[in-house]
Amino acid sequence: MNILIVNDDGIYSPGILALAEVAAEFGEVKVLAPNMEQSAMSHAITYARPLSYIRTPVKDFEAYRVNGTPADCTALGVYLWPETNMVLSGINLGLNIGNSMWHSGTLAAAKQAALMGYRGMAFSTDITGEDFDMEAQKPFVRQALEMLLENDMELININLPKKPEGFSWCKQSLRHYDGVMVPGEDPQGRKHYWFSVEPVEDVEKGTDRWAIIHNQVSITPLRLDLTSYKDLESIKQKEIP
Ligand code: MN
Repeated sequence: MNILIVNDDGIYSPGILALAEVAAEFGEVKVLAPNMEQSAMSHAITYARPLSYIRTPVKDFEAYRVNGTPADCTALGVYLWPETNMVLSGINLGLNIGNSMWHSGTLAAAKQAALMGYRGMAFSTDITGEDFDMEAQKPFVRQALEMLLENDMELININLPKKPEGFSWCKQSLRHYDGVMVPGEDPQGRKHYWFSVEPVEDVEKGTDRWAIIHNQVSITPLRLDLTSYKDLESIKQKEIP
C-alpha cells in the first residue's frame, strides 16, 4: 500500500505527523504539502507559474514542501508516485463540516485525488491553538482507515472531535452557513472586514455538525457530481427546447 499524505495547513503542521504515523501502519508513506498555510484555498490550482518541491523530512518520513496549493500537492504527488493507492489529506487544524466543505483546502486535496482516479480521504479536527496532542484522535484515524479500506468509496470527509467517543456515518449539514463578515477599523481609522465564522445553533440530527457536538467522529461519503437532478428532471418535463 502506497499512501500519499497532503494537507492545506502546510508542511510544518503537527497534523501531518499524526496522520503519517497512523498511515505508516498501513503502508509506505510519502508527504507532499504546501510550503505555507493554504487553508480556505478550496480547490485552487496553480497554472500560471511552475511548481517545484524541496525535500523537507517530517520526522522520519519522506516529505517535500511545494510552492503550490493543496490540490497542486495531490496532482504533483500522484504524478511523481503513480504507484499511489490512496491520498490522505490532513489532519487539518479546524473542522471541515457543513458548508465549510466548500472552502476547505483539506477536502479539495482529497477531491483532487478522486478526480484523478485515486481514493481520497480528508481528515480534520477541532484541535487548534497551543495544544496539538492528537493521541486521542489516532485510534479513530486507524479505525477509519481500516473501515474505509474494506469499502469501495472514492471520496470521504472525516472530522474528529477533541474527545472522540465513537463513529457516526452522517450527511453534510446544509441548513446553516456559518460564514459571516465582521467589520473593523485599522489604527488609522480605515475600515476593514474579516470573513469569519459564527457559532451555529439548532443543529440537525444525523449531520456532521451534530456528530461533532456529540463527541462522535463524523464520516461522510461524498460524490463529485454537483448536478441537481431534481431541477434537471423538472426542467426536462417542461419540454423547454
Ligand atoms: Mn487548514
